[in-house]
Amino acid sequence: MLDTIKEKWPEILDFLKLEFDITDVSFKTWILPLKVESYENNVLTLIFPGETKNTGLNYIQKKYYHFIKIAIEENIDKEIDLVITLPNIEDVEESSTDLMEEHENITLENRIKESNLDKKYTFDSFVVGSNNDIAQVTSLAAAESPGEMYNPLFIYGGVGLGKTHLIQSIGNFVLANDPDAKVLYTTCENFTNEVIDLLGNKKNKTSQEDIIEFRQKYRNVDVLLIDDIQFISNKDRTQEEIFNIYNDLFMKHKQIVFTSDRKPKDMEGIEDRLINRFEQGLTVDIHNPDYETRMAILKKKAEFLGYTLDEAVLQFIANNFTANVRELEGSLTRVISFSKIKRTDITLDLAKDALNDLISPNHEEKITCENIIDMVADQYQISVSDICSTKKSKEFTIPRQICMYLCRVYTEDTLDQIALLLKKDNHATVSYGYNKIKKAMEKDPSLKNSIDILKKKISPN
Ligand code: ADP
Ligand code: MG
Repeated sequence: MLDTIKEKWPEILDFLKLEFDITDVSFKTWILPLKVESYENNVLTLIFPGETKNTGLNYIQKKYYHFIKIAIEENIDKEIDLVITLPNIEDVEESSTDLMEEHENITLENRIKESNLDKKYTFDSFVVGSNNDIAQVTSLAAAESPGEMYNPLFIYGGVGLGKTHLIQSIGNFVLANDPDAKVLYTTCENFTNEVIDLLGNKKNKTSQEDIIEFRQKYRNVDVLLIDDIQFISNKDRTQEEIFNIYNDLFMKHKQIVFTSDRKPKDMEGIEDRLINRFEQGLTVDIHNPDYETRMAILKKKAEFLGYTLDEAVLQFIANNFTANVRELEGSLTRVISFSKIKRTDITLDLAKDALNDLISPNHEEKITCENIIDMVADQYQISVSDICSTKKSKEFTIPRQICMYLCRVYTEDTLDQIALLLKKDNHATVSYGYNKIKKAMEKDPSLKNSIDILKKKISPN
């Protein structure tokens, strides 16, 4: 039976997509990653891969479980018990997302404009990595079932990490999939200005109707998206308005999404009752993208601009612009325009030339143990905290020793400093790890190969 199900899996997927009218992006996020694992005593087990996808799994159970079960039963002509679960051993391979075919629809365009959205921000153009996967999955869930799953959804993270992109993707997704939905996006700054115009200035003779109209505008929506909410700090009237609008929408089960540069607890100058509201639903964060994600973003962006660039050029950019995505994109655009001006191909030398003044003189050579640990964690699909821990399983000890080896080769840090980072008691352990890997590489070509890949990432030249 297991073989039959595996054989029929493509048909089952087709059936599922068509019969239940699942959108491309939802299909790619929730359904395609599922793997047929086992069939015993009429129990079919499907695996939803990805170590950080617990939230995703809950969502699939709630929204797709019955659809999946029906699709399987219809195709194999038999009733089964279905279990969907997370894997024991992680296999975190993200399926790459293609650009969704977009029908240029005039009414949709208008609705996007009326909602204050920019149509370029979509889930399809958002690259998912370990730095943002929870934020992406929960945003998509909120977009698919506004007001039902996470309310409010509160996304926080540093500058240029994709918060505006995600919050706007929610709005664009809702508009594209529900012709009747009303969405409103605003920045906190814009909202504050409206409040000041209407209510702040006593001399200004704002009519009662204007105030009612303003409130109606925000209360009459299915999805309210407020970007950079940290700016309401110390603005009492704005806080009051947001509090009232929030309560009204929340009671009506309308979706509310906030972004901020910090988590609710760390926001200052904001009334407690509002902080409590922010924390009432789900709070998710976005971190700096790791090396793999930076590469994926660069590739996607280059592809979008119609370029296929050498791996070495992309690696150079990914290695030198690590802080945020905006910077990463800016560097790529700069390299491309440089090649247009100079009318030459995009080579590594050209990229170095173009970005020379953006890279601090010793930035290029500056390799830290933290970077190395990050890359090793990435390559072995384990977390940095597991590498820097006392955990003894092989899964962690070998990457940890590889870190010892590479930190010793590439940095000036002392063995004691490296030991401290990797949670080892003293330098002897680091020295032992270094020697062990050095010797093992001579005998084990696959280990050597994976260390060579890491060396290339650390120092692409
Ligand atoms: P924030 O609002 O957090 O400051 P933005 O959403 O404005 O950051 O992101 C900055 C730029 O980086 C935007 O052009 C955005 O499209 C892009 N960007 C950020 N994260 C991603 C991602 N994961 N995939 C693709 N593009 C991204
Ligand atoms: Mg922003």
